[in-house]
Amino acid sequence: MSKVLIVGSGAREHALAQTFLRSPQVDEVIVAPGNDGMLRSGIICQDIAVTELTTLRDFARDKKIDLTFVGSEEPLTLGIVDVFEASGLTIFGPSKQAAQLEGSKSFTKNILKKYHIPTANSQTVTSRSAAQASLELFDFPVVFKLDGLALGKGVTIINNRNDGETYLDNLYQQRVNAKLVIEEYLDGVEFSVFTLVGRNGQMTHAPLAQDHKRRFDGDKGPNTGGMGAYSPVTWISDDIRRQTINMLVEPTIKAMSSEKIPFSGVLYTGVMLTAQGPKVIEFNVRFGDPEAQVVLPQYTGDFYDLIMQLLQGNQPTPKWQEEDIYLGVVLASPGYPEAPQNGLTVPEIPYPVNYAGVSLQNGQLVTKGGRVLTVVHHQKTAAVAQKQLYDALDKIDMALVFRHDIGYQAVE
Ligand code: AMP
Repeated sequence: MSKVLIVGSGAREHALAQTFLRSPQVDEVIVAPGNDGMLRSGIICQDIAVTELTTLRDFARDKKIDLTFVGSEEPLTLGIVDVFEASGLTIFGPSKQAAQLEGSKSFTKNILKKYHIPTANSQTVTSRSAAQASLELFDFPVVFKLDGLALGKGVTIINNRNDGETYLDNLYQQRVNAKLVIEEYLDGVEFSVFTLVGRNGQMTHAPLAQDHKRRFDGDKGPNTGGMGAYSPVTWISDDIRRQTINMLVEPTIKAMSSEKIPFSGVLYTGVMLTAQGPKVIEFNVRFGDPEAQVVLPQYTGDFYDLIMQLLQGNQPTPKWQEEDIYLGVVLASPGYPEAPQNGLTVPEIPYPVNYAGVSLQNGQLVTKGGRVLTVVHHQKTAAVAQKQLYDALDKIDMALVFRHDIGYQAVE
């Protein structure tokens, strides 16, 4: 029997842990640092921060962990895979260099341009004057992307010249040589593809997913880490899915190999379906959260076996369900994302739940952070799943807040 270590602390890691526990080969799953809500599902938590790479490595070695799976981006861009592999430990994820696909917008834009992979036109600048010259070349709205990991805060959509000038003045006053990608605004609908990539470039594509980033119904309000998701996105045709994989995902994996920076791990391709076809918006080098929580329960095979096959350089035969739509609704603490309240009672939910910002106080789970938990439900149609889930949530007397329209594009 095998032991799995998962690095991260959110609801995505809770979903990953439960997916590994379904494997007949796995008898122990430890999440570092995890959260108090996970303890209810027979998961062990080990209090090591995701950035303590050598402590994590020593723990994995001492505990004889068979496989480490990294949930969150920060340890990947810091080089956790390089650290583990240097000690002969088995870990699924990209090297520090390959993780630049998420960690550096300018690195990614260079790869996309060089290999003619469809994406928004862009220019990378490092000074106020170059930014000004570049700004003249684009119509409004235009998109500004700060280079480097920004934990979801690095992208700003600029609607007019005035706002653009103000942004640039502020940025270059604070950081004289700031690296900024100035990018054409793409109009369309967004969706995500998750691809599990093996050691020899083998690929397994998961069902498509769609996230809801804005805090309020109708995609209004501030951006958040994600208020809900659903999968598969059945209204996107097989033809578009094929085009996305053939024109965006596979050429990127091949480009990384040609650049001698082979990618393995989870590649998350954020796609904008435009009038000219699908284009890359961004890459992440790990599963999205909440998308992972609606994608992973669809794996009907042995997930541990799938990952080990990929790590051994074999082409696995993946097994995904094709019957139901999976819907995940995030319950957040009031005040999220600006000022979420801690210490509020977390209610019992009559559906499967993945916990995120919670802590155990006197035997009761209370809020500790913005996104508290995700409720996941599946049904033959998005409309039925939505109705059942919201009927149940509306009956619960609680302080937590949530969007009431997750999956609306699938319902429409
Ligand atoms: P990113 O961090 O690059 O994923 O950007 C965050 C969000 O900003 C994306 O999910 C999009 O909704 C939006 N966005 C990023 N780039 C563009 C673009 N070129 N055109 C329109 N929206 C964009």
